Amino acid sequence: MAPRVIQERLAPVLEAAAGNAADVDRAGRFPREAVDALRDSGLCGLTVPEAEGGLGGSPHDLVEVMSSVAAACGSTAMIYLMHVAATMPVAVAPPDGHPGLLREMASGAKLGTLAFSERGSRSHFWAPVSRQAQTNGSVAFSATKSWVTSAGEADIIVSSALVPEGGPIDSDLFAIPRATPGIEPGGPWTGMGLRGNDSRPMSLEVEIPAGWRLGSPGEGFRLMMEAVLPWFNLGNASVSLGLATAAADGAVKHATGSSFQHLGESLADLPTIRAQLARMHIRTDALRSYLHEVAGSLMQPDDRTQLRVLASKAYANDTALEVTDMAMRVCGGAAFSQHLAIDRFFRDARAGHVMAPTADVLYDFYGKAITGRPLF
Ligand SMILES: Cc1cc2nc3c(=O)[nH]c(=O)nc-3n(C[C@H](O)[C@H](O)[C@H](O)COP(=O)(O)OP(=O)(O)OC[C@H]3O[C@@H](n4cnc5c(N)ncnc54)[C@H](O)[C@@H]3O)c2cc1C
Repeated sequence: MAPRVIQERLAPVLEAAAGNAADVDRAGRFPREAVDALRDSGLCGLTVPEAEGGLGGSPHDLVEVMSSVAAACGSTAMIYLMHVAATMPVAVAPPDGHPGLLREMASGAKLGTLAFSERGSRSHFWAPVSRQAQTNGSVAFSATKSWVTSAGEADIIVSSALVPEGGPIDSDLFAIPRATPGIEPGGPWTGMGLRGNDSRPMSLEVEIPAGWRLGSPGEGFRLMMEAVLPWFNLGNASVSLGLATAAADGAVKHATGSSFQHLGESLADLPTIRAQLARMHIRTDALRSYLHEVAGSLMQPDDRTQLRVLASKAYANDTALEVTDMAMRVCGGAAFSQHLAIDRFFRDARAGHVMAPTADVLYDFYGKAITGRPLF
């Protein structure tokens, strides 16, 4: 997509996100202004084909848009990411029982999210422990989902559940309206970062039409791996990139603008500080290049694409931890006392690592793949 088109759509989103990010973080409130702007911008359909009402954007566009939103407000970016990740399996396997759902998600009329993680299987999202019972065209299951971003705000929840009979990864995905009886978000969200995310536990005690299933029976695992994971990993990595970039830029601004009056020098006159700033910039620059390499690989898959998808999130999550930590150090007490936005980037960046597939799991998967072992 033309960069100018993206910039025009992004501008009001970034303005609303940046203008409210500090308050969203302080109050732990949903970033309504920015999410409303997103819903109005058309960017909810960024990665949906134009024929289905989307913008037909590429993985490269996702990297740029998601990282820009994250640099303005991490909470908004993660809400946006979960929407994109919920939309893509709907695009690949539209549910018969929800005609028009993809267009509604692409237009922003319906905000989506994922409910994969369960209390019983923790971060191993590919193995839900909730199991369906099926009768006469309907499906019933009860699930204790441990985290659902936008739990009280999303319109559509893409949820997993095991098929009635089968092994631990034989699942289905369902697109379930949040207003469905039997869906109860848990208590209020509180976290050290991404404080506007509304990421709450959710209990589902539902009986729903079988037509809300995405794809054919038993296709859940395939959809998770092929329709969700590439976009989620690249998007999550882009959130990390945005947070790291914002921290690096913020550190340069602080170091060049803060002076030792008695010496007539700025922080940036110290060689150790300059070297830290250089490391931060080189790492974020390398990360951006790598994510575009992964994006290109998704557009023209080859035998390294799977590895790159695995690596992208782990590498980006770790880079964000390192760079935001350096920024805290360079900016000293000014960052620690929350006078800058650096501590927010630092706290927000912690989430990427623990979001499933966690960075440690991805390293293990990558190691399995290059040593010829099955991933699951
Ligand atoms: C802000 C935020 C928003 C979220 N939003 C959503 C959402 O919208 N939908 C959703 O489904 N989930 C969501 N999650 C949940 C997330 O995807 C994980 O399931 C959750 O963070 C896992 O936490 P846990 O304590 O259960 O991890 P645990 O599984 O207990 O992991 C603890 C540690 O063990 C490590 N570990 C576990 N298994 C292995 C392994 N096989 N090899 C190596 N190390 C391993 C992990 O890397 C981690 O470091 C969200 C999480 C956060 C933080």
